[in-house]
Amino acid sequence: DPRIDGIKTKIRVVPDFPKKGIMFQDITTLLLDPKAFKDTIDLFVERYRHMNISVVAEARGFIFGVPIALAIGAKFVPLRKPKKLPGEIIFEEYELEYGSDRLEMHVEAVDSGDRALVVDDLIATGGTLCAAMNLLRRVGAEVVECACVIELPELNGRERLEGKALYVLVEYQ
Ligand code: 5GP
Repeated sequence: DPRIDGIKTKIRVVPDFPKKGIMFQDITTLLLDPKAFKDTIDLFVERYRHMNISVVAEARGFIFGVPIALAIGAKFVPLRKPKKLPGEIIFEEYELEYGSDRLEMHVEAVDSGDRALVVDDLIATGGTLCAAMNLLRRVGAEVVECACVIELPELNGRERLEGKALYVLVEYQ
């Protein structure tokens, strides 16, 4: 798709952030370009609008998941860092590329039988997507697919997903 190259050029690569040796993929520069940002959302919407997705979940950022959910007519469930959600929650601990963290989800936000799409800006080790999928499954949702703007294939995050389908727009080599 010709739109992919336009998206790729708007992602800024920042060497040695947040620490030495990390090539940080900065998607904030993509958000500054309304055409490339819209193309990103459109590509996901075109893929998911006819897949009977009833819930879109995203951890921490919510930048891409929210417009996708609105466009495909699904509910949006934020997966948040600790102490942000006031209702009854479940949580998963997970490892990050740098450090460890915990994701929380409102239990009553997802119904058993919901068909879920898990969205994130980037997959590195796959720990975040794995934790997100576990939260959704624990309340009985079916995770249909994971979707990311960027994949860092060298970190083998796909293997952590245990065969679950992963759709990405851009691979960083
Ligand atoms: P993982 O859990 O797959 O190891 O790491 C992915 C998570 O860490 C994502 O939520 C993502 O936002 C964040 N992350 C890790 N590396 C990068 C990076 O280079 N750029 C951005 N934008 N996020 C990153």
